[in-house]
Amino acid sequence: MPEESQRKTLDERHRMTDLERLRHSCAHVLATAILKIWPDAQFAAGPPVEQGFYYDLELAHRITPEDFARIEEEMKREIKANHPFERIPLSRADAIAMAQRGELGALGPRGVPSKFKLDILESIPEGEEITIYRNGEFTDLCAGPHVMRTGNVGAFRLTSIASAYYKGDERNPQLQRIYGTAFKNKTELEAHFAMLEEAKKRDHRKLGRELELFTFDEDVGPGLPLSLPNGTVLIEELEKLAKETEFAAGYQRVRTPHLARENLYLTSGHLPYYAESMFPPMELAAEGSDADRPLRREEFRREVEAMGELTPEKIDRVIERAAEIRKAEGLSGDRYYLKAMNCPHHHKLFGAVPRSYRDLPLRLAEYGTCYRYEQSGELFGLMRVRSMQMNDAHIYCTEDQFEAEFNAVNEMYLKYFGIFGLGKYLMRFSTHDPARLGQKFVNEPELWLRTEAMVRGVLQRSGINFIEVPNEAAFYGPKIDVQVYSAIGREFTIATNQVDFAVPKRFGLVYKDRDNTEKTPLCIHRAPLGTHERFIGFLIEHYAGNFPLWLAPEQVRILPIGDEPPLLEYARSIHAELRSQGVRAELDLSSDKINGKIQRAEVAKVHTMLVLGNRDLEAGAVSLRVHGKGNLGARPRAEVVSGLLAAIRDRKDP
Ligand SMILES: [Zn+2]
Ligand SMILES: [Zn+2]
Repeated sequence: MPEESQRKTLDERHRMTDLERLRHSCAHVLATAILKIWPDAQFAAGPPVEQGFYYDLELAHRITPEDFARIEEEMKREIKANHPFERIPLSRADAIAMAQRGELGALGPRGVPSKFKLDILESIPEGEEITIYRNGEFTDLCAGPHVMRTGNVGAFRLTSIASAYYKGDERNPQLQRIYGTAFKNKTELEAHFAMLEEAKKRDHRKLGRELELFTFDEDVGPGLPLSLPNGTVLIEELEKLAKETEFAAGYQRVRTPHLARENLYLTSGHLPYYAESMFPPMELAAEGSDADRPLRREEFRREVEAMGELTPEKIDRVIERAAEIRKAEGLSGDRYYLKAMNCPHHHKLFGAVPRSYRDLPLRLAEYGTCYRYEQSGELFGLMRVRSMQMNDAHIYCTEDQFEAEFNAVNEMYLKYFGIFGLGKYLMRFSTHDPARLGQKFVNEPELWLRTEAMVRGVLQRSGINFIEVPNEAAFYGPKIDVQVYSAIGREFTIATNQVDFAVPKRFGLVYKDRDNTEKTPLCIHRAPLGTHERFIGFLIEHYAGNFPLWLAPEQVRILPIGDEPPLLEYARSIHAELRSQGVRAELDLSSDKINGKIQRAEVAKVHTMLVLGNRDLEAGAVSLRVHGKGNLGARPRAEVVSGLLAAIRDRKDP
């Protein structure tokens, strides 16, 4: 079931932002307007979503964009009337009676019941308060919250129509879903649509094709991107940056295979819990009868669940049971899985050597390739893929070392943000919910409080821009997601930073402390540059494909005017000098006129063009041209070359 059609918990409602309240309120205004035109519309759910809001409804008339103007006209009237949003608590029996009279999601009593509202009423847990909201003539079953008055909806626009099954279930009736968006005022609404327009031009799939960065191929498989040479430059430059930065920060590099036996993922807990997001296993033995397999898998999952929290002894039992099931399925051999995360492999590397407190903090880094089985409908260019290369590392440390390590990771994020010119970012610090210990969160109440306090303290002391989000931590510890904003203001979640105080114990990881006792280290999972795929998708939009010199696939193109041998000789010697210094320089020896050569280089977004004429040759100069900046005039050759080398080395355009 898609998340958006699930009923929001009270907790989630309390966290609705001002903008979400406004947008959700606008959905009530939309319903009001539709009922004024089509009084027998039956409404289902109308939540705020990422870019706005929608409302699902059942109606014999098929609403089309041609109807939008008329609906918006009614909406404007409702907003102008400035009706208050009135909150009215009532008993379950009264609410059901109203729904039966057709009064919910309606302008008044109707001949037929409000069938979806009746159904939603049934799903409200016993004991939870039931409320209706009224704006003008419209009454709706809703837990809120809303803005004060309809007039608070400053500016809105209806955007599209889709069809959606009630509660996302195809056995249910198909409804019409009307999407819209709303903002505090007209300026913000217009800025939003201008940003979307600009984002379309910067679409990473479009630019990725035009600049020959990456491609997908049906025979290779959906969601499995192939990097063309230009895209590979981006990947290798990012890796170089990460390796240099991590080396300076005391990380050690490791390498691990792309797959592992089932036992590893039983120990890590990926199986059976995350089996759906992993590629199905590779069976090494002959296939047996697999008619009962799905059932057995489900049974296995239930069995493991019933065991509660997994101690190392219980994990042994889980592994035994998995082997028994394999045997029952007629498979005696091994089962391998593609890795969905690098952590289990890294934990094995920690455990491979006896560790003492002197080895800590131990920072193991790898640009590891992971595979996740995303639903095909979810795949989206580089942003949602099935194979990904992650800027991963795991830091094993003592509690005393935690603050310094965690701080250093944050410093690294900030350093990267500086290099990529990301002035606006936000860290979302997700914590646990004590009511769900032992279910959603590992049952270590003390450790949760202690670690969360440590993280909160570090964030506060370092003055980093963060918000705290309860109940969204990882299973094994608090987590930080880093949201960055592209140059046009679009938000992306790129990186995560997690504290893990549970899994090292499951893997039996220990170090010898000063007092000669064995202790379990804390583990910090961090990936400041996220995955290559997602980060490059983000950078393409951020730079609109105009990459800075250090990152540009083609950094320099040399364009001689004409083809006289001494001039070509000069061009070749500059080309050779740059290549020998590691600069990605090309030489345009085509017979095109210089204007044609320049235009071709501009279209390809080559960063720097060195135009060479006879006058440049005589003066030992080059005429400098920079993409997006135009002609910068003639400069001495040595000065230009050293300027290019410095800009590349410092990762900073002059
Ligand atoms: Zn509402
Ligand atoms: Zn990890």
